[in-house]
Amino acid sequence: MSGVLVVLEKTPGSAAINRMSFEALAAAQQLADKLSATVTIAVPSGKDFSADGFESKGRTPSAAYLLKHELLEPYTSDTYVLALEQLIKKLSPDYVLFPHTYQVRDFAPALATRFKQVLISDVIAIHDGPVFVRQLLQGKLNADYKHSIPNNEKAPCFVSVQAGSFRADESTTTIKPEIFTPELSAAQIRNKPGERFRESSQTVDLSAAPVIVSVGRGIGEQDNLPIVEELAQALGAELAASRPICDNGWLPMERQVGSSGQTVSPKLYLAVGISGAIQHLVGMKGSKAVIAINKDENAPIFEVADYGVVGDLFEIVPELTKAIRAAKT
Ligand SMILES: Cc1cc2nc3c(=O)[nH]c(=O)nc-3n(C[C@H](O)[C@H](O)[C@H](O)COP(=O)(O)OP(=O)(O)OC[C@H]3O[C@@H](n4cnc5c(N)ncnc54)[C@H](O)[C@@H]3O)c2cc1C
Repeated sequence: MSGVLVVLEKTPGSAAINRMSFEALAAAQQLADKLSATVTIAVPSGKDFSADGFESKGRTPSAAYLLKHELLEPYTSDTYVLALEQLIKKLSPDYVLFPHTYQVRDFAPALATRFKQVLISDVIAIHDGPVFVRQLLQGKLNADYKHSIPNNEKAPCFVSVQAGSFRADESTTTIKPEIFTPELSAAQIRNKPGERFRESSQTVDLSAAPVIVSVGRGIGEQDNLPIVEELAQALGAELAASRPICDNGWLPMERQVGSSGQTVSPKLYLAVGISGAIQHLVGMKGSKAVIAINKDENAPIFEVADYGVVGDLFEIVPELTKAIRAAKT
C-alpha cells in the first residue's frame, strides 16, 4: 500500500468510534486528496467490534482493518505498539494518522520509534507539500514540519491530529472490515492497566448557557476571582475557566472549557485573561460572539475574538460590571 493509514480509537466498552477519530479521518482524507493517495482505516479492538461492520463517517475508505485480539482489551501501550507495528509493516503506508487523544499520546511515540521516526503531534492544519502545522509556545508560533528521511530510506510519517482542528464529515457509512490478527502473547505485556482516567464530570452544563464569562490565569490568584464573578452575575452569565484555574482548584473542574473540559457554543463568550491556547480554543470557538480582554495584544485569543480589548483586566472588568449594572437600572 502507498497512502494514508488512519488509526481510529473506539470509545471504551462500546462498539463506537470516538468523535476525535472522525476528525483525524477528515484530516487523513484531506491529506490523501493532496497526495492523490488512498485512505485505509484501522481499528484495534478486543471484543467490542466484529467483522459484521461498524459505523464510520465520510467517504468509504479503500480498505479497513479490524486488529482483533483479546489482549488488546484492556488497552495497554505494549499491545497497541506490537499490533500496529505488525499492520504497518504489512501495509507500508506513507503516512499514519491518529487522533491526539490521551491514549494515542501514550503509545504512538513508542510506535513511531519502532520505525526510527518521531510523532509529529498536535497537528492543527495540513498544507501542500505536505507540511504539517503545529503550535509552539502556547500558540504564539505556528511551526511547519515536513517529513524527510536521509538516504532515501522508507519509513512512514506519524502524525496526531489536534481536537477541533478538522471538521468531521457528518455523512455515515458502514464499514465491513478485514480482520487482522496480530501475534501477541501475555508475556509481552509489561504494563498493568489501572483505572481509566475520567474527563471532568459535567454537573454544570455549560453547553446550554447563552452567555459565559470565562476566566484565565491572567486573574493572578484565587482571591481575585470575585472581580469576574461579579461581571458574570451582572450579565446573568455562567462562570467558566481555562484549565490552570481548575487545575489549581480555584474553580471546580466542571467549569473548565477546552479539549479536556466542556465544549460550549453560547451567544456570547467573554474571555478574561485567557491566552487562547489551542486546547482552550477547541472548546469555545463555536461561540456566536467572542469578546476577549487581555493585556497582550499578540495573545492568540484575539484571532478568534469578534471584539478585543487590549488592557489590564483589573481596570477594565470592574468598570464593565459597573456599566452593565447601570445600563440595567
Ligand atoms: C493535554 C492537554 C489538555 C489541555 N486541555 C485544556 C482545556 O481543556 N482547557 C484549557 O483552557 N486549557 C487546556 N490545556 C492547557 C492549555 O495548553 C493552556 O496551558 C491553558 O489554556 C492556558 O490557560 P490561560 O490562558 O488561562 O493561561 P495563560 O496561557 O498563562 O494565559 C494568561 C493570559 O492572561 C493574560 N494576562 C495576564 N495578566 C493580565 C491582566 N492583568 N489583564 C489582562 N490579561 C492578563 C496574559 O497576557 C495571558 O495571555 C491543556 C493542555 C494539555 C497539554
